[in-house]
Amino acid sequence: MRMPILALFASGMLCFAQPSWREEGLLHLQKSPQARLHPVPVRAVQFQTGFWKTRQDVTIERSMPTLLELLEQNGIVDNFRRLARPDRQPPRRGPLYTDSDLYKWMEAAAWSLQVKPDPKLEATLDQLTDTILAAQEPSGYLNTWFVEERAPLRWQQQVSGHELYCLGHLLQAGIAYYRSTGKRKLLDGGIRFVEYLLRDFGPAPKRPLLTGHPELELALAELHRTTGDRRYLDLAAYLFSGIERERLKLRERDLVYLFSGKPFPERTRFEGHAVRALYAATGAADYVLETGDGAFRDTILRLWEDLALRKLYVTGGVGSRAAGETFGDPYELPNLQAYTESCAAIAGMLFNQRLLHLTGEAKYADLMERALYNGICSGMSSSGDLYCYRNPLAAPASDRIRNPWYTTTCCPPNLQRTFAALGAYFFSTSQDGVWVHFYDNATLDWKLESGTPLRLSIKTSMPWQGETEITVAPQKEEEFTLHLRIPSWSLSTSVEINGRRVGGPVRPNEYLAWKRLWRPGDRVRLVFDLTPRRVFANPRVAEDYGKAALQRGPFIYCLESTDNPGISVFEAALAGGSAIRSLPPAAAPAGAVRLQAGGLAYSPPLGQRPLYGFQPVTPLKPVTLTFIPYYAFHDRGPADYTVWLPCLNCGW
Ligand SMILES: [Zn+2]
Repeated sequence: MRMPILALFASGMLCFAQPSWREEGLLHLQKSPQARLHPVPVRAVQFQTGFWKTRQDVTIERSMPTLLELLEQNGIVDNFRRLARPDRQPPRRGPLYTDSDLYKWMEAAAWSLQVKPDPKLEATLDQLTDTILAAQEPSGYLNTWFVEERAPLRWQQQVSGHELYCLGHLLQAGIAYYRSTGKRKLLDGGIRFVEYLLRDFGPAPKRPLLTGHPELELALAELHRTTGDRRYLDLAAYLFSGIERERLKLRERDLVYLFSGKPFPERTRFEGHAVRALYAATGAADYVLETGDGAFRDTILRLWEDLALRKLYVTGGVGSRAAGETFGDPYELPNLQAYTESCAAIAGMLFNQRLLHLTGEAKYADLMERALYNGICSGMSSSGDLYCYRNPLAAPASDRIRNPWYTTTCCPPNLQRTFAALGAYFFSTSQDGVWVHFYDNATLDWKLESGTPLRLSIKTSMPWQGETEITVAPQKEEEFTLHLRIPSWSLSTSVEINGRRVGGPVRPNEYLAWKRLWRPGDRVRLVFDLTPRRVFANPRVAEDYGKAALQRGPFIYCLESTDNPGISVFEAALAGGSAIRSLPPAAAPAGAVRLQAGGLAYSPPLGQRPLYGFQPVTPLKPVTLTFIPYYAFHDRGPADYTVWLPCLNCGW
């Protein structure tokens, strides 16, 4: 059947035919009117030997295959298969949101195909697509929990049912697979579900809809970008409108906990469930990228301030309270009790990624980096098969925080999709040039927005040493701006272009924008300042008052008992005046620069002292303390560790 051309426009199909799926990045912002920066495709970036290549390789070669095995062993794939079988066997297993775990794994696998083509993996994804879509009902509805005797409960439990959360991840998997292979089958399955929603749900007299766990909002924005169909963005706007508060009889505590159900611009602070709130804010930032809505824009910037100034751990972790997995009050940042779910750190990075592309401001990239190199990186062991759900800033050896499997296994595939596509977070383009956000051995093979092919090659010893060389190779000489991020921790950075030192200030936490006629083979040399330093918290963080942490480059460090035999890490203090030494890389944690600093230990141990007394207790026994990067805690097995230590004579 031939559709009239106007109908094609209305359905978005004509717009769909225009962009090449190969050119769409993690986010496809080329046509987003408010986007200052545009992400590059995952396939445009290859890591070479270095920190992130190691992590990406282990993700693709070890982590993804072992997790698929576990998803199979725990019945998560069978939950779909059984629905296509007459006997409906085996019985469904796992909590009601497990569909999303498989979708997220598929998203990771889909992105990985752009890094490392793998016909066998692609065939697995095709088979899984068939398995999933065989469970889709003719209406478009697709969920393995609300079936059979639970089918009457569909949409009756929108606060906790996760039906839309699962759909969001289905769409993201479908979009990733489409952008990696050009295959639309999974994406079309997701679209059928969205079309079902558009038919039956929406403002009265249609049925009310609520994202009890925000996530669909950002997926709908990306679906709009992928198809050009405005109705998908309008559905996100409806979900943000909160007009269903009365119809769904939401309680005040639901509005707080879910970060959903009330008009988004009424939000003044981050509260409630950390992942829900950050996904909602990320989706709202996507909405701003598409519409420029002023009230939404003010709100996301206000929320960012609340996060950055009052509610973010030094590791980029988010979520202070284990009960409810929620944000705490301002400055409520306990260390041992920190909840800091891996997914929350990832959600924080996604929120900052949107703000970076909206504004081009380095402070957002800075928080992406803080999370990525610390509270996200810690979520997966170097072996690639152990994961953290919580990433506290201190833990005893008895706290088994790295595990191969969780009944709620949201974090492992979330980490995988992040690492599989990681290179695409490192670069962006804009109308005036190209942006480098993070530094590792990597090659960008892409093009300027003028259309001129461009290759950027980064050779560096980052993140362990500061020397970095970037070879700039446009296909032909062309004037454009190279935006180089100068991280907030590099207090003194030198920059040379073709051997000549760049004059003028090179300020931390800004992008150095260098506009010139670039010729193939031009070289930029940067030397970042990786001096190890003590970090102090705002004194309103009671838990960290009088304490310091150590930072070197992007890494926050921790004191782990494995490196400090005979010392209780919870009974040690840093000596304020002592130098901090960088130790040569060790075998474990692999390749990491460890730090050594003078400290003091309590003697006799504090456990032998009374709980209260009239004299302060000060540590007196000099000790040498050895620190490892925080991300590597428990990597060599269970151990006591802590990020923050009392700091004596530190100017308190
Ligand atoms: Zn999680």
